[in-house]
Amino acid sequence: MIKGVVAIVGRPNVGKSTIFNRILGERVSIVEDTPGVTRDRIYGKGTWLTQDFRIIDTGGIQLENQPFQEEIKAQVEIAIEEADVILFIVNGRDGVTGDDEFIARMLRRSGKPVVLAVNKIDDATLQGNIYEFYALGLSEPIAVSGSHGIGIGDVMDALVEAFPEKQQPELEGIRFAVIGRPNVGKSSLVNALLKEERVIVSDIEGTTRDAIDTPFEQDGKHYVVVDTAGIRKRGKVYENIEKYSVLRAMSAIERCDVVLFVIDGESGIREQDKHVAGYAHEAGKPIIIVYNKWDAVEKDEKTMNRVTEQIRTQFVYLSYAPILFVSAKTHQRVNTLLPMIEDVYHYSQLRIATNVLNEVVMDAQLTTPAPTHNGQRLKILYASQVAVAPPTFVLFVNDPQLLHFSYRRYIENRLREAFGFDGSPIRIIARSKD
Ligand code: GDP
Ligand code: GDP
Repeated sequence: MIKGVVAIVGRPNVGKSTIFNRILGERVSIVEDTPGVTRDRIYGKGTWLTQDFRIIDTGGIQLENQPFQEEIKAQVEIAIEEADVILFIVNGRDGVTGDDEFIARMLRRSGKPVVLAVNKIDDATLQGNIYEFYALGLSEPIAVSGSHGIGIGDVMDALVEAFPEKQQPELEGIRFAVIGRPNVGKSSLVNALLKEERVIVSDIEGTTRDAIDTPFEQDGKHYVVVDTAGIRKRGKVYENIEKYSVLRAMSAIERCDVVLFVIDGESGIREQDKHVAGYAHEAGKPIIIVYNKWDAVEKDEKTMNRVTEQIRTQFVYLSYAPILFVSAKTHQRVNTLLPMIEDVYHYSQLRIATNVLNEVVMDAQLTTPAPTHNGQRLKILYASQVAVAPPTFVLFVNDPQLLHFSYRRYIENRLREAFGFDGSPIRIIARSKD
C-alpha cells in the first residue's frame, strides 16, 4: 500500500539529491543499471518500516534560461501540485537565507504538511544551528546529515506521520494510463473514450490524488483512466519540461494496470517517445501501442505494414505489445481500445498450471536444447510461475549462469506461443536447484 507522494524542495546545494538518494537506499543502483533510461533520477520509491511512499526530487526539474528564483518557484509549485507531504531542506551551515524565507512563504500558503530538515549538521557541535529555523514558521526543524546518514530515520518518521490519514477506497475496474509526449493526442483520446461511455461521477470525497482518476463504465464493465488531470494539462505551464512530463507519466504508470502508449502518427516516432516507452516497459505493465492521428497519415494499402515494421524496429523491447491504429479526431477504431485493454489485462493476470507449464518448457528444451558454453550446457529441471502482473517464471536449472539472453528469449517465445501473454511483459528467472 502506497501512503502517498513526498516532494523534496530547497535551494541548490543544500543536499536535496544526497538525501533523496539516502531515502531511496539501495534502489538507486538497481534503477541505474537499466539501460536506455535517463541516469539522473528524480523519482523513486521509498520504504520506511512497513510504509511505502513515492518521492520526487524537484531539484532535478530545471527550467532553461530562467532566472534562479523562477526556477525555485517552479520547483516549489510542482511540489505543491504533486505531493501529499513536502520535505523542505535547508543548509544548517548557512543560517536562514532570503530564498529559504521565499520558499517557506509559498509552502505556508499552500497548506500542505511540511517536514523541515536542517542538513549538514554532521556532528553534535552544530546542533545549536537548527534553532534559528523555527523562524520559518513551519514544523519543528529536524537536524540531519545527508552525507553521514544521520537523522534520516527521524525525517522518515516525520514524513510517514505527516501523510493525510484518509485512505480512499480504491475505485473499481481496470485502471489504465494514457502516456506519450505532449501533443500526441492523449487528451483527445481520453475525451473520445469518455464521450462514448458513461462517466461515473464519484461522490466519494477524494484526496487530490484520487480525484484526478476518472471512472467510467461500458457494457457493465468498469474502467478507470488514471491521472486524467495530468492528461488534461492542469499543470499546463510546466508541461514542456521533459522531466516533469516523465515524472507524471511514471507516477501514472505505477498506479495503473494497463498502459496505452500513444504515438503521434502525423509527426512520427521521436526520441522522447523512446524514453516514455522505456519507463513503461521497465515497470512491467502490459502495454498497448496506440498509433494516433491515423486520419492525418497519407496512406495506401501498404502503409500499415510499413509503420508496424518501423515501430517494431524502433521499440524492439516492446515486441509483445499490440499496435492499434486509431484517430481520436474521427473516432476511427477508438472502440477497439477497451476490448484490447481487457485482453492484455487478462494476460497479465494469467496463471499457468504447473504441470502444463512444465510440459511446454520441457518440450521446448527437448526440441532445442541450450547451446553448450565452455563445454557446459544449461539444463532446466523444472519451471514454476511465481507471480502475475507481470507473469514471472522461475526456471530451476543446473547453473543459473548458463542461461543466456538468446535462450531466455527462446523460452519466452515458446511460452508466448503456448499461452499468448499478448501485451504483457514476461519475466524469467533462473535459479539453481540444489
Ligand atoms: P542539492 O543541490 O540540494 O541536490 O545538493 P546535493 O545533494 O547535490 O549536495 C550539495 C553538496 O553538499 C554536495 O557537495 C554534497 O556532498 C554536500 N552535502 C550534502 N549533504 C551534506 C551533509 O550532510 N554534510 C556536509 N558537510 N555536506 C553535505
Ligand atoms: P496531448 O498533449 O497528448 O493531450 O494532445 P492533445 O489531445 O491535446 O492533441 C494535440 C493536438 O493534436 C490537438 O490539436 C488535437 O486536435 C490534435 N489531434 C489529437 N488527436 C488527433 C487525431 O486523431 N487526428 C488529428 N488529425 N489530430 C489530432
